Amino acid sequence: MIKLLLPILLAIGYGLLMYRLSVWRTKRQLDANSTELADPILNQLTRQMAGALDLPRIRVFIYEIEPVNGLAAPDGRIFITRGFYQKYRNGEVTADELASVIAHELGHVALGHSRRRMIDFSGQNALRMVLMMIVGRFIPFIGIWIANILTSLVAARMSRSDEYEADAYATALLIKSGIGAGPQKSLFTKLERLTKTNAGAVPAWLLSHPKAQERIAAIETLERKWGQALRGA
Ligand SMILES: [Zn+2]
Repeated sequence: MIKLLLPILLAIGYGLLMYRLSVWRTKRQLDANSTELADPILNQLTRQMAGALDLPRIRVFIYEIEPVNGLAAPDGRIFITRGFYQKYRNGEVTADELASVIAHELGHVALGHSRRRMIDFSGQNALRMVLMMIVGRFIPFIGIWIANILTSLVAARMSRSDEYEADAYATALLIKSGIGAGPQKSLFTKLERLTKTNAGAVPAWLLSHPKAQERIAAIETLERKWGQALRGA
């Protein structure tokens, strides 16, 4: 029995260690490569959202990487990549649309997703490693293949429901702070069009998220529901 359990326990221990290490490495990378956002228009919008949430302020940082992405760190800080911010500076994305990304990432923080998302962001390999060691022991050769499939299944399920919840949080927050859900929907359409016009340059923010059309439909369902509730009150 011990002979069977020991390798499994070792694999799990190793996985946990790898996870800790990757969380620590990600945090260090973020700290070293980011500066606080200092754009007067965006700061005004984050102040509006902070007001709606009764928070003193919302801290947003620019993360110095090219891929268009947003990220919520487990400590509650929100990061927008330089690439995304540049799209705003170029006029391809509006301030309200970028605010909807901040609202979405705030949703991940508020709903407690960010800790899990660190697994998504940097620790998926650890999970794969553990599964490979466990499954591979019992099923040689195709064990690796099974471990890969299991890992992507877990990650996809986890992120899909998280994304819809974060979207719903953002919709509510955007409406409450007077920005409205319009920019949230128009951004999805824009980003999807962007992926079609230059293939190969798919924004990471879209890749890790469900399909734009389905997300827009989910937001519109909420708007209808909340609209009825408001009229009924
Ligand atoms: Zn998300």
